[in-house]
Amino acid sequence: MKKIWKKIEEADNIVLVSHINPDGDALGSSLSLYPILKKMGKKVSVFNATKDLPSYLDFLPNFDKVVNKLPNKIDLMISFDCGSFDRLGIEKRPDFLINIDHHISNTNYGDINLIKPNYASTSQVVYDILKENGIEILKESAICIYTALVTDTGNFQYESVNDKVFEVAADLVRCGVKPDFISKMLYQRDRLSRLRLLAKAYDTIELCCEGKVAFVEVTKEMLEITGAIKEDTDTIVNSVRAIATVEIACMLREDDEGIKISFRSKNYADVSKIAVKYGGGGHIRAAGATIKDEFDFNKVKEMLKNDLKEILKGEK
Ligand code: 5GP
Ligand code: MN
Repeated sequence: MKKIWKKIEEADNIVLVSHINPDGDALGSSLSLYPILKKMGKKVSVFNATKDLPSYLDFLPNFDKVVNKLPNKIDLMISFDCGSFDRLGIEKRPDFLINIDHHISNTNYGDINLIKPNYASTSQVVYDILKENGIEILKESAICIYTALVTDTGNFQYESVNDKVFEVAADLVRCGVKPDFISKMLYQRDRLSRLRLLAKAYDTIELCCEGKVAFVEVTKEMLEITGAIKEDTDTIVNSVRAIATVEIACMLREDDEGIKISFRSKNYADVSKIAVKYGGGGHIRAAGATIKDEFDFNKVKEMLKNDLKEILKGEK
């Protein structure tokens, strides 16, 4: 962690990047360093390859500073929350790359890799780096770190949540975070079109493997009819996992490039294994992959069933 801060101190032109289709942890972690590095007098860019950033995160301080074009001069690139280099959506490797993440499937693609698979969020790793180096956590940064922590723990619900996580959260509140404000920004600004989409998607829920597996489908047509957008699909798979009998929920979404699958498990199944098998990655309880050039939901479900049965055997 000391080595990372030394690299930051030495660099003038720094780019903070995160994975395509960013979530709260990706954007929160990358944006959290922006005001701190600015205050240090650095030239800082926050880059994400995705053009349409999720609007539910638009309250994050400096959200409007996120660009989708890289600057010409880069002394140091720092990636956040990204398991593999290709998920950054960047063609050319920079001269020096620091990889900060908490994905168990991280491929260690950086020149320095700080991967903490048992941390609840990448932002918790950022928090540690700042503390370890005695850096003051500005309120703007605290909001970003806290939001990332909230979103990646499903509101402090997952197994990754321990005493340390609550200590970090408490400290961030002391730095000026208002938890009710963050909750209202994240969860009380729904669009009606999103709820209409949920109704259509829930209609497709199908259980198998004695109710332990649930599939839910989202088609392009559903998005068109309801006027919902891709980011509106984000929480569907979590709600489907909430069915009492379900251990693994899989959302299949029709994308331009193929079928995107989101996996979630509840108690024991390691869904990162199956995601990696299909070219994706993620965590034990949340992972994803895209089956390219395949658009037949039933075919994908049949294909997945054997793998799902295999990981269900791990029941304790
Ligand atoms: P989601 O299902 O919400 O898209 O993603 C769940 C988790 O799996 C996230 O941590 C996300 O970064 C990871 N993930 C989702 N899709 C992919 C993918 O195609 N490749 C990799 N490496 N990770 C993914
Ligand atoms: Mn994360």
